[in-house]
Amino acid sequence: GAGSALSATKQVKLERESELRIEVGTDAPLRLRVVAGTAEIFGTELPPEIWFSFPPRHKFAVFTWYGATVEMDGETETDYTADETPMVSYVNVHAVLDARRNRARASPAGSESSQGPRVIVVGPTDSGKSTLSKMLLSWAAKQGWKPTFVDLDIGQGSITIPGSIAATPIELPIDPVEGVPLEMPLVYYYGHTTPSNNVDLYKVLAKELADTLERQFSGNAESRAAGMVINTMGWIEGVGYELLQHAINTFKANVVLVLGQEKLFSMLKKDALKINPSIDVVKLQKSGGVVSRNVKYRQKARSYRIREYFYGLGNELSPHASIASFSDLSIYRIGGGPQAPHSALPIGAKPVADPLRLAPVNISRDLLHVVLAVSFAKEADQIVSSNVAGFVYVTDVDVQRKKITFLAPSPGELPSKLLIMGTLTWLET
Ligand code: ATP
Repeated sequence: GAGSALSATKQVKLERESELRIEVGTDAPLRLRVVAGTAEIFGTELPPEIWFSFPPRHKFAVFTWYGATVEMDGETETDYTADETPMVSYVNVHAVLDARRNRARASPAGSESSQGPRVIVVGPTDSGKSTLSKMLLSWAAKQGWKPTFVDLDIGQGSITIPGSIAATPIELPIDPVEGVPLEMPLVYYYGHTTPSNNVDLYKVLAKELADTLERQFSGNAESRAAGMVINTMGWIEGVGYELLQHAINTFKANVVLVLGQEKLFSMLKKDALKINPSIDVVKLQKSGGVVSRNVKYRQKARSYRIREYFYGLGNELSPHASIASFSDLSIYRIGGGPQAPHSALPIGAKPVADPLRLAPVNISRDLLHVVLAVSFAKEADQIVSSNVAGFVYVTDVDVQRKKITFLAPSPGELPSKLLIMGTLTWLET
């Protein structure tokens, strides 16, 4: 009856410096708006009275600095108010970064000091790294800066599909529903969702990305002063730790924010200072609102992310199906195979896999459901050092007619016939 329709909407009054933590229900989106006061979602202020619709299972918090009333319409898995948050310490970090950006902008162009803060956010899985990165970027964008977001997390990327590392300038506070804008990011395709598949390739691609950004900064004082915020993976032990150090080094990070782990903080404080004596290593509290996600949830999230790339968040995109002859495409794998045949090696030596070796892929039914990156390389030997234009998804392989059918986000010819294959697949659901 009329009663149950009304009971779906609910108003929550939030005191200053508190937040409403929400997990949207599994079946339907949740609508939410601010009806009084001011509130933000991960650094992006919500305009008053405007309804936002959050997809099922979305997890987020509505935070207010001075008090607000929000209205919700729909089912939640959980929603509760928390008045203990680390937001004051986070915004204090923002204030320090902002002062450094101003100092950088006031410095002579091209000088060492014209480089704004290069912040790297590290911590174990589910410590809130992506969330803190977004907040710092959105607060900076609100003040007119255009910081560069670098995402090194190949497992749960925020910029493009999983298996990639990417960077993009953030010109406006990040949309709380749509996320990071997808226009023209700089993307390198690694092809796997864990770095252990090919650690050397991961390092090489990180270096390529860093070098490209360095070149862009040298011609753009504004983005150089705004600096970057680098999100990392939650793998912090062993090789994971080595990769963090590699990232700090390669991107010349000058601020390391360590979320929620004492041991990682003290190790990095010691080791990062060896790399750069003037680096700031700062320990920050993890928010109690960060939701832990299990392996299955992460797999699902990856799959949604690939779906979103082709179809959009709300199915607003219509990907284009194309058919190509096998001979029209050149597909390569990077790494894997042995470098030299046994017979060519000294007695007793084992064949070592060359992590950067390019191996042509014979098109077969094995390509079904594989996600391929479209390289910007002109020649095959440039594939490892080239960024990618985007991705296609193989929907059919006709071995008899030697035809391959794939989905691309837009119609027209592919920008290149050089494609990269990794281990990333997707089952359309
Ligand atoms: P990983 O390394 O595994 O990618 P992470 O450390 O980057 O994880 P986040 O992605 O930032 O962690 O956070 C995990 C989840 O918790 C996300 O869905 C995020 O939206 C949610 N979350 C973060 N902070 C809060 C909060 N204060 N209230 C409610 N949900 C939150």
